[in-house]
Amino acid sequence: MATDAATSQTFTRHPHPAPLAVDARNAVLADPGFGRAFTDHMVEIDYTEGRGWHDARIVPYGPIPLDPAAAVLHYAQEIFEGLKAYRLADGGIALFRPEANAARFNASARRLAMPELPEDLFVEAVRQQVLVDQDWFPTVEGGSLYLRPFMFASEAFLGVRPSKQYKFLVIASPAGNYFKSGAPAVSIWVSDFTRAAQGGTGAAKCGGNYAASLVPTAEAFERGHDQVLFLDAAEHKWVEELGGMNLFFVFDDGSVLTPELTGTILPGITRASLLELAAEEGLTVREGRYSLDQWKADAASGKLLETFACGTAAVVTPVGRVADRAGEFTIGTGGPGQLTQKLRQRLVAIQRGEAADAHGWVRRIA
Ligand SMILES: *Cc1c(COP(=O)(O)O)cnc(C)c1O
Repeated sequence: MATDAATSQTFTRHPHPAPLAVDARNAVLADPGFGRAFTDHMVEIDYTEGRGWHDARIVPYGPIPLDPAAAVLHYAQEIFEGLKAYRLADGGIALFRPEANAARFNASARRLAMPELPEDLFVEAVRQQVLVDQDWFPTVEGGSLYLRPFMFASEAFLGVRPSKQYKFLVIASPAGNYFKSGAPAVSIWVSDFTRAAQGGTGAAKCGGNYAASLVPTAEAFERGHDQVLFLDAAEHKWVEELGGMNLFFVFDDGSVLTPELTGTILPGITRASLLELAAEEGLTVREGRYSLDQWKADAASGKLLETFACGTAAVVTPVGRVADRAGEFTIGTGGPGQLTQKLRQRLVAIQRGEAADAHGWVRRIA
């Protein structure tokens, strides 16, 4: 039993009776890929209306019994987060801005009519999950332990109203370097579909947004592109974001632009961090609207030097080519831009404890 004064919750421990054999685990850790393998344990906490959060526990990773009438299976009342734990050079372990994930999780919970989880309990649950499976850090360079906290409606009831029961879980997955040597520039397809409309759930990290992005993403793949880009739903004119990453534009006058948070864009923690790092590089940082037409024109005139996408999983990804039904255009040389690479290196160095953490973003947990 481990108690943490900060959370008033006790996490009971039920160790896995048969954890994965060391040889098999080492094989996974040498080539983990992304989202394929899962560690031996998971954190589980239950919520019942009137009682609140209870029964925090660490249990063997495995299937969850679920009533076929569980509300999540019918009305998609589900939210999630994604963050990484890093093994530091001195053997310690750190999380990157977990309080920001906790705060965003609760913002998503409010939009989906779900109960909030105290922020310190969210962070403690993530910490417990990392510590119990700390032998699961990848051995490949650039590896990390990807954490997936999520919550879903578990009440068996087919009426349409918020559930009275929920489950919160944290699972962990060893993750390799998303790109083996540096990040190659990707090609993106501007979708005719939209991801989020004003007043919808675009700013919430909910599974439903992803379900709706699968057909547009498949279409991008079929056309030979790597990612899908969504424009705004009202005018189909303004650049919003990719399926799971925010976008930045770098100009020849030393300015950097990212689409403003209008309620239809997911407020990325990588996005927020890069806004600060770019300002520290002496760049003029702007959050505003940017149209697809202007983007095309600026790429053609040379005013636009670089475009990159960002998010926890791939950190920073250069965008080399953009295509829509009207045709295709190239950004810069079509390869990774200089500032893109510099910002990526700066952020990764802070996350891994190799550079000074002037912002207090790194939470050491071991
Ligand atoms: C999670 C997510 C992002 C990136 O957020 P980070 O906090 O930087 O990982 C961007 N867009 C969407 C749609 C997302 O779900």
